[in-house]
Amino acid sequence: SVAARASDVWKVYGQGEAQVIALRGINVELAQGQFTAIMGPSGSGKSTLMHCLAGLDTVTRGDLFVGDTQVNKLSDSGLTKLRRDKIGFIFQQFNLLPTLTAEENILLPLSIAGRKPDQVWYDTVIKTVGLEDRLKHKPTELSGGQQQRVACARALVSRPDVIFADEPTGNLDSRSGAEVLNFLRNSVRDFGQTIVMVTHDPTAASYADRVIFLADGQIVDELLEPTVDQVH
Ligand code: ADP
Ligand code: ADP
Repeated sequence: SVAARASDVWKVYGQGEAQVIALRGINVELAQGQFTAIMGPSGSGKSTLMHCLAGLDTVTRGDLFVGDTQVNKLSDSGLTKLRRDKIGFIFQQFNLLPTLTAEENILLPLSIAGRKPDQVWYDTVIKTVGLEDRLKHKPTELSGGQQQRVACARALVSRPDVIFADEPTGNLDSRSGAEVLNFLRNSVRDFGQTIVMVTHDPTAASYADRVIFLADGQIVDELLEPTVDQVH
């Protein structure tokens, strides 16, 4: 079934001479349990598309769905609830709270939602992401790769319908990046997690099941089971 869908989505920023058309009629379906990478030159609309799908920004025209929820019909409080209950985020800058331990960071979205973790699921996520002996450490005591794996665990622990990852390997060396990408790919394969990742990096994109190429606000190409050479 479909985890997320965009139907003739347009996004216009600003007005008059300052107007920028960031998305020009995007049509895309993201299947449940699929790992999709979005690539394209700087300014092609990758962040805008991801932000609109994730309910972080509004569209000018068109329809967006996450599961059965029509995102473009939600009120601000509906959007907050969508982001809290249905969506996980991974950012380039990790975005961990420095005063909290790894474990407290991972559990924060659940605590904010007033939910208790499913212990079996929590243990599985911690084990899969390889953080068993790092849980009591603060972010500054962890390497970049470990911090990003904490962020991955935080995104996954609430079992979101979709995880959106914005340049998740942008601040990592290639070895740490590979650890994070392997974890993302394994969570798709083993848990059926749906993931959408924006990246500039062909190696990162080659971990995805599908790559969508944007240029000037439009989808211009698409690859299934991409190799690094194809994505370059
Ligand atoms: P990326 O690294 O994905 O290309 P950018 O550096 O283009 O991202 O943009 C970073 C942030 O700034 C994004 O959240 C984007 O929405 C915002 N942004 C980009 N261009 C503009 C602009 N011309 N005016 C205001 N905000 C912008
Ligand atoms: P990408 O992520 O591919 O670099 P963006 O989605 O950040 O592209 O930007 C697409 C276009 O929209 C760019 O021309 C950018 O400058 C513009 N843009 C993005 N965010 C804003 C904003 N908040 N205000 C005005 N223009 C923006």
